Amino acid sequence: MPVPLLDVNAQNHALKTELRAAFDKVLESGRFIMGEEVEAFESEVGSYVGAKHAIGVSSGTDAILLALMALGIGPGDEVICPSFTFFATAGCIARTGATPVFCDCHPDTFNLDFTSAEACISEQTKAIIPVHLFGQSIDMKTCDAFARKHGLKVIEDTAQSLGASYHGKYCGAMSDFGTYSFFPSKNLGGLGDGGLLVTQDDQLAEIAVKMRNHGMHPRYYHEMVGGNFRLDALQAALLRVKFQQYPEYTRLRQHNAAYYHEGLADVNGLVLPVTDEGNEHIWNQFTIRVLDGKRDALRQGLLDLGIGCEIYYPVPMHQQQCFAHLADQARSAFKVTEQLAAEVLSIPVYPELTQSQKDEVIEAIRSLMS
Ligand SMILES: *Cc1c(COP(=O)(O)O)cnc(C)c1O
Repeated sequence: MPVPLLDVNAQNHALKTELRAAFDKVLESGRFIMGEEVEAFESEVGSYVGAKHAIGVSSGTDAILLALMALGIGPGDEVICPSFTFFATAGCIARTGATPVFCDCHPDTFNLDFTSAEACISEQTKAIIPVHLFGQSIDMKTCDAFARKHGLKVIEDTAQSLGASYHGKYCGAMSDFGTYSFFPSKNLGGLGDGGLLVTQDDQLAEIAVKMRNHGMHPRYYHEMVGGNFRLDALQAALLRVKFQQYPEYTRLRQHNAAYYHEGLADVNGLVLPVTDEGNEHIWNQFTIRVLDGKRDALRQGLLDLGIGCEIYYPVPMHQQQCFAHLADQARSAFKVTEQLAAEVLSIPVYPELTQSQKDEVIEAIRSLMS
């Protein structure tokens, strides 16, 4: 039986009745932009992560862009982010006119390395965007100390880690801004694009709310330049249905990850993902490292057997063509990032995986690595 990397239908089709009812409700209301459904969604997810303000937006990317804009980041400023991340983190920095400065990461958790970030500091550094990668919090205590020492703003890119926690505190709600994504492959996957921005700061929230809608306040008066970063009522209504199941989705992902840890623990040449002490991991990805140059062979072997797998991420930010002009100015080495790009492989961990599918993945990896 083939095992896809992700099966969105398995999750969404189980909720057909509820999703259709949510659609009907919005259809009948005639209110398609913002409104009640968006406000209810903001309040539900905001209180779940313990954020004072939650602002529904058009995507995880726009949440990052809006956070940077609300902080007034722009030309002449530098913002530090990991090289080992999805493009949006770095792309948003560049779109404000600021310069992204890339740092290295840890081989065990894949998360940003603050020793490397230290080397990236300059007079121009205004902010840092740590990424809670693959479903696990960064070392927030070190992040706080780092930001305080250098007077930086912090935007937590929490696209992959809604509900992950660090010593009991939820990712995204521990700094100036937290950004979330509801792209279909995230743990709370919408039926389209969507995102959320959270903050504890009243003033930043007020600016971000205005900027979400062209900086308009009151109507047709613009004291600042924003954009159209609004969330659709329809998307919010559908996400509210799925959010009711969220604790169960997380529990099942954690169960699957634990099963892999058991089934793959003794395989030579594999390094299994590590969860730092004090972290609750929510497993957006279950990412293994395949040593001795065997990653591509394992990947092809799994694909030949009909088992979905993917390399997140094959090309680090410091090697992207659009950032080639920044290469000479690099202040950090990227030894770990480059090693990971050559070793990582993410395997199916979505909540609806069956027992026999998980066994099939484990057996395939065991036999291909023997
Ligand atoms: C998915 C993702 C984003 C972007 O979210 P979209 O909703 O697709 O715009 C940003 N950062 C990270 C780390 C992501 O994984």
